[in-house]
Amino acid sequence: MLIIVSGPMFAGKTTWLLDYASKLPQGTYKLFKPNIDSRYSDDKCVTHDGKHLPSLNLNVENPQFTDIGDKIRTILIDELNFFNKDKLIPVINKQLKLKKTIVGAGLNYDYQKVPFGSTIPLAKIADQSIELFSVCDKCGGKARHVYRKIHNENRIFLGAADAYGTSCEICWDELNNN
Ligand SMILES: [Zn+2]
Repeated sequence: MLIIVSGPMFAGKTTWLLDYASKLPQGTYKLFKPNIDSRYSDDKCVTHDGKHLPSLNLNVENPQFTDIGDKIRTILIDELNFFNKDKLIPVINKQLKLKKTIVGAGLNYDYQKVPFGSTIPLAKIADQSIELFSVCDKCGGKARHVYRKIHNENRIFLGAADAYGTSCEICWDELNNN
């Protein structure tokens, strides 16, 4: 079973993931996050509002699930967008064949509205795909996109509310250029 939760920043994706994990019996799941995301912690998966659970690092260059014994039935992965689909999807498929449940969360798009990493390819093959939205900073409408508040041209630039905002389709051009 593959379940994918996607959306922009500040849509509650990590919260959704942690809520899901908190309902699982102790010792039956592992939570992974990319080894490049140490914004809040190296060994915890943390939401923007501070909720957290212990997590393991998953190498973005060579993602391999470690510590997955028979007792582990569910593998949760945050920030799917940081993984190349050609590297992540084969290791996920291997676990699906072993009848594990995979629950992943990630950004659909980067700050230029370009599809980002493994999120959309995984959502397309998921048994359940859930798209969350945030609120547009300008008009209050449904926000599917993020925009950058500070100038930085690197695609991967880790930041929180000081660096990123969320926008609807209509307001994005204006917000992203200011
Ligand atoms: Zn708007």
